[in-house]
Parts: sequence; structure tokens; C-alpha cells
Amino acid sequence: MDNSKKAGFATRAVHAGHHPDPQTGAHVMPIYATSTFSYGSAERGARLFAGEEKGYFYSRLANPTVRAFEQKLANLEGTDEAVAFASGMGAASAIALTFLKSGDEVAFIGPLYGGTEGLLHEVMSQFGVTTRSAGKLAELRGVVGEKTKLVWLETPTNPTLQVVDLQAACEIAHGVGALVVVDNTFSTPYLTRPAEFGVDLVMHSATKYLSGHGDVIAGVVAGSAEQMGVLRLHGLRHGGAALGPFEAHLLIRGMKTLALRMDAHCRNARAVAEALREHPAVRAVHYPGFADHQGHEVAAGQMLDFGGLVSVDLGTQEAAFRFLNALKLFTQAVSLGDVESLSCHPASTTHQLLGAEVLERQGVTAGLVRLSVGIEDEQDLIADVQQALQAAQG
Ligand SMILES: *Cc1c(COP(=O)(O)O)cnc(C)c1O
Repeated sequence: MDNSKKAGFATRAVHAGHHPDPQTGAHVMPIYATSTFSYGSAERGARLFAGEEKGYFYSRLANPTVRAFEQKLANLEGTDEAVAFASGMGAASAIALTFLKSGDEVAFIGPLYGGTEGLLHEVMSQFGVTTRSAGKLAELRGVVGEKTKLVWLETPTNPTLQVVDLQAACEIAHGVGALVVVDNTFSTPYLTRPAEFGVDLVMHSATKYLSGHGDVIAGVVAGSAEQMGVLRLHGLRHGGAALGPFEAHLLIRGMKTLALRMDAHCRNARAVAEALREHPAVRAVHYPGFADHQGHEVAAGQMLDFGGLVSVDLGTQEAAFRFLNALKLFTQAVSLGDVESLSCHPASTTHQLLGAEVLERQGVTAGLVRLSVGIEDEQDLIADVQQALQAAQG
């Protein structure tokens, strides 16, 4: 847990979780493309299944390449252990299946990622789990109680980039005996390590910044050895959404440059946010790095930098669409965290199902555009945004 005694973050991002293969000297972690592993003897098979001996025996439970990814992520998050899943939602559903049962309540500070809200409201409700939502930290105490088993948080939130004070939220949740899960996809362990603030379960859509290259769908959860043991048994072994070794290889490769990429994302996002704010066609810019942003102080205390996402409100859907259609470097697509810049209109795409009233309340206005700022040259991104703003004015 104590990262101060270890090597620096960039060093661990490169080295943690793997070392040259003792048999061949292979410098990079090999891709163990195998579903099953020979026991060698019937006696050893029995010991492996009884848990009396540690070892690989079936890749749904553990695979050496996937294990290297898990250990790298656990090291970077500063937790004992991590368990990989086939997607971010695979990780989220494994958490829900493992740590919630009929009669329990789950509380969150919304809006959460749409898939997570769907999982809690539409799926877990079928199993007698009640979901209670708070709009901000101040409302959290009012929606937790003795039945609350999980408090689900995201920071910064999608797409309005609200910042949640993790330490304060943990105090409230732990006060009623609930576990805290933080979806750390937007921050990555380079910017925020939720476990340092008392968070129990840290999950990621590894599809985003951890991969960084837009070429894999994956998820992961980090936490204590005890909780990850239960999650591996119930969520992974019985839940079944296992990550494959090829995807794990891509994740290991992507994560080696996490520190470098995040620095570039953060630098470019600030430059883009500043360029947007100066323009008369812009109604509002959501970026936690601005001193007048609602969560700036909390963000400054729990993030190393302010992340690679910027949301801009252009007033109307027509202006937002003109802006999006004029952008050349920002590909119009969902997802985020790729080296390529991406853009989307949440109200008509990712958040469409929420309905107009909820969207307006959560600040997901018709004019809002979310930008995932990539690692291209700053001046090219700014020039692209500026010409698109001209087009937005119609
Ligand atoms: C993308 C995303 C997810 C879902 O992850 P998948 O890998 O697409 O299943 C969950 N949470 C956040 C914050 C995300 O951005």
C-alpha cells in the first residue's frame, strides 16, 4: 500500500507485473493463448482445486498474461490485488453480483455512466436490490442507511465533470458500514488513487485510458486481497466475464506509457478548455482545472492534474451539431481516453435514454458537447476547435 517506499509511478507503469520469462528470457510478457493448464498428476489436480496449491488450471479463473495486467494495475492503484474482466460493464456487474443481495440498497452520487445506472436500476432491481441516488455529496447522507451495502461513485462525472470528494464520501459510507466503489476510468491511477482516500473497490473501464489506443474492450477491479478473493470466486469464476490473453497483452503495452500519455492529455485538455472559454459562441466550459469550477478545490486535492476531458455548452443542439460536424481531428464517436481526440453529443447519444427532464437537471443540455482530448499537437487541436466554433455560429 505504501507507494512512497516504491519506485516512481512511471517506472512502475513500465515494469510492474512482469519480468523476463525464466524459460526463454522473453523480455516482454508472452501471450499465453491457452484455455487450460496440465496438472501433471491427479494428486496435483486435486490440490489445485482444493486451493491447497497455487497454480494455473483454467484461463477463466487466471491466466499468466492476464495476471501480469492485474498485478500491474494493482501496483499502480496501490492495492493488494486486482481482478480483470472482459469489459468495464463486466467488472461492474461482477461487483454488483458479488457484493449485493436481495434486500440490500445501493446508493450513488449521479449521474453515473449510463451502463452502470442501467445495471443498478434495471437489472439489480430484478433481484430485490433498491437503488437510491443523490445529486451531490451533500445529499448522500440522506440516501444511505443500515441497508446500504455499496456506495457507487465516479469522479469526475460523465459528461459534466463534477468532482466528488472521495474522503468525505467514504466517511459517510463507512459510517453506515457500506463498501465504497469508485469508477476511476476518467482519472486513471496516474491522476487519482482512490484507495489512498479510503475507497474499498476501484474499478475501471480499461477500454479507455488504461489501453489508451482504442483497440480493446476490458475492465478491472482493484482492492484488498480479501475482497478480491471473493470477487474472483463469485464475480469471475461464477460470473464468467473473463478477459482474454490477447487483450491483456494490449493493455500491458498500453499501460507502459500511461504517465506520458496522461501528461499530454491533461496539457492539451487545458489548452482546448482555455481556447473554448474565450470564444463568444460558447455558453459554458466544464473543466475541473478552472479555478471557478464547482469542484476545483477538491480536484486539486485529490488529482495530480485535471484530466483529458472537456465539455462545452454551445447553447443549442443546432450549434452543437454544427460544431461537431465541422471538427476534423476530433472523431465523432463514443468512448474516450484514446490517443486520438474524440467528440460526442451526450444528450442525443450516450444519455438519450435518461429523458429530457433528467438531462436538464443533470446539466446534460442540448448544446453540450463532450471532448476527449487526445495527444495530438496542441496548436492543431486548438486550430480545429476554433474553425469549428466559427462554423457553430452558423
Ligand atoms: C466506458 C465506461 C464504462 C463501461 O466500460 P466498457 O469497457 O465499455 O464496458 C464504465 N464506466 C465509465 C466511466 C466508462 O467511461
